[in-house]
Amino acid sequence: MTLAENVSTVLATVATAEKTIDKLGQTTVIGVTKYVEADQARALFQAGITNLAENRTELFLDKHEKMSDLPITWHLIGTLQRRKVKDVINLVDYFHALDSIKLAREIDKRAEHVIKCFLQVNVSGEASKHGFSPDELDTVLSEISELDNVQIVGLMTMAPIDATNDELDDLFAKAKALQVSIAAKNLTNIPCTDLSMGMSRDYQTAIQHGATFVRIGSEFFK
Ligand SMILES: *Cc1c(COP(=O)(O)O)cnc(C)c1O
Repeated sequence: MTLAENVSTVLATVATAEKTIDKLGQTTVIGVTKYVEADQARALFQAGITNLAENRTELFLDKHEKMSDLPITWHLIGTLQRRKVKDVINLVDYFHALDSIKLAREIDKRAEHVIKCFLQVNVSGEASKHGFSPDELDTVLSEISELDNVQIVGLMTMAPIDATNDELDDLFAKAKALQVSIAAKNLTNIPCTDLSMGMSRDYQTAIQHGATFVRIGSEFFK
């Protein structure tokens, strides 16, 4: 399959999933380019995927520079070390992996404008996964809401690689319920209207549960 064919297939699948919940066009498809070089990432943009993501600072900086001529919406989706915040945070449009208060404070300190962030939540409780546990969120939110330069646009979560369909339904429904309950609090700097969940193997299910951003890599580059 060519890249263009893969893009059509993914976009058609996204549309089908959106139709089942009557929300056509609600999803932002993010192309995850961590597997490929800048020339292939450029080809993905040219095939219509204008939101791109990297999970590592170095790879992000490299592609950001090589594709600075394109109007890309850039997402940083992986764990960010505090000492690297200053190198990248003002270059990304969305940061998806806010997983500690200390990191939020560092972002606030280094930001030259308001930074749109997703709080990463470990809904599955898997030990290997980053993110806040759902019971910590109340405390975390009240601290983050005091930071002027950090805006929480939504929650981000990842399902275990071996999750069954039932487990996926359960996890994504829980993430959606958490997002809705946080949005209802109307906290300062925390609109929390978005939900970043769903990767190549589970984005249809994620969309059916209300994902507004899906992060897709391998389905484009296979
Ligand atoms: C790699 C990655 C993705 C994309 O994974 P695929 O299974 O290739 O679609 C999504 N989110 C994060 C955080 C990633 O690191």
